[in-house]
Amino acid sequence: MAAKLTFSKEIANLLYAMHGNPIKDCIQCGTCSGTCPAVEFMDHSPRELIAMIGANLKDEVLHSNTYWSCASCYYCNVRCPAGIDIADLMYALKRYSMWKDQYKKDLIGPKFSESFVKMIMRTGRSFEPVLAPSYIFKYGTRGIIQEAQTASALVLKGRLPLLPKKIKRLENLKRMVRRIIPIGEPS
Ligand code: SF4
Ligand code: SF4
Repeated sequence: MAAKLTFSKEIANLLYAMHGNPIKDCIQCGTCSGTCPAVEFMDHSPRELIAMIGANLKDEVLHSNTYWSCASCYYCNVRCPAGIDIADLMYALKRYSMWKDQYKKDLIGPKFSESFVKMIMRTGRSFEPVLAPSYIFKYGTRGIIQEAQTASALVLKGRLPLLPKKIKRLENLKRMVRRIIPIGEPS
């Protein structure tokens, strides 16, 4: 019987083969945390999160807001002395946590990502009016009014269509998306 994979190995396997096992290469220098523009919004810095993955602290990692706060700026990647692709590691954790349905439930990120993937599976395109409900109510009445004003201005300038358009060969795109993340079928 095949040995059960550790959490650390599972996450490493979600990255491209060329990355090898990036977590074991981390020397805990903290350059990524010192570099990160979003670190103040994270409950664990990137350095801490990588140490936690290495220690197989699965529940703590999956319930962290760190990877949902990552702005994908890739600044940590270019400065990491061990050459670790930290930004893609954050993406891998997003995919994994949604696949396992284990993430902090009060975050906007997972709801937004799920709405985005489902919308792409329906039409092959991004369509903002469908995405808006996943975050718009989080910002109260003032936020809703501001978003409505922005949307109206975009519609009047012809920059926001009222109905989504479908791409050609949508089935091909769906097949690709299904290989990346096991969500996306319209419910
Ligand atoms: S910069 Fe790289 S080696 Fe240093 S703590 Fe971050 S991931 Fe680890
Ligand atoms: S890619 Fe993410 S983790 Fe890395 S520095 Fe940018 S925001 Fe921080």
